[in-house]
This record gives sequence, C-alpha cells and structure tokens, in this order.
Amino acid sequence: MAEKTLFQKIANGEIPSEMVYEDDQCFAFRDINPQAPTHILICPRKPIPSLDDITEDDGELVGHLSLVATRIAAEEGLTNGYRTVYNCGEHGQQSVPHLHLHLIGGRQLNWPPG
Ligand code: 5GP
Repeated sequence: MAEKTLFQKIANGEIPSEMVYEDDQCFAFRDINPQAPTHILICPRKPIPSLDDITEDDGELVGHLSLVATRIAAEEGLTNGYRTVYNCGEHGQQSVPHLHLHLIGGRQLNWPPG
C-alpha cells in the first residue's frame, strides 16, 4: 500500500490541524504558516499528487474544491475578495505532493506573485 501523504495524515488526525471543513470528497484546514489572516488548504481525499495529475474523471472533484473555497471564503467573511492558488511542480513551488487549493485572504494581496 502506498505511504500516506502528509495531508492524508492530517485528514485522519495523525497530525493535528485546525480543520475548518470536511465532506466525503475533501477536507480543509488552516495552513501552519499562514501568508494572510485567512490561509486555508482545501484538499481532495483522493491523494492526487498535483494539478498536473488530474484527469477528465477528476473534473467534478476539482470543481467541487473551488465551490468549497467560495463557501469557506463566505464563512471567513472575505467580502472584499480573496485568492485561490494551486502551486504545481518545481517552478510553481509546490512543496506537498497532495493536490491542495490555497484560499488566501483577509488583507490586500499583491500581483504579480514572486
Ligand atoms: P505548497 O507549497 O505545496 O503549495 O503548499 C503546502 C502548504 O502546506 C504550505 O503553505 C505549508 O505551510 C503547509 N503545510 C506544510 N506542512 C503542514 C502541516 O503539517 N500542517 C499544516 N496545517 N500546514 C502545513
């Protein structure tokens, strides 16, 4: 059996986290190193390594992650806007190989990113 990813260990409670949302397809928790007042990671339960690894079969799941992001953003009171980001691969500076959507908000964000 494949070794569990860091985020699977967070999902099953092996690694503590502040979970903010869970359903049968995904879970969301606060980032340990927040880049803004709200910084939440939304992850599929299916351990897809990165955005590069999604297939047509994952289309509904990936759409669901974005819908969950909008719901959490509303709950977090991000009425002035927010950012959602998938880092992908080396140039995207992805550090955890389990697909996750960053939800970042609660302050004025800058563009372009570094
Ligand atoms: P990436 O760089 O892969 O796009 O994002 C990974 C994110 O996971 C980073 O923002 C990092 O702070 C967060 N992270 C890494 N390890 C942990 C952990 O053990 N707990 C939590 N809550 N977040 C983590």
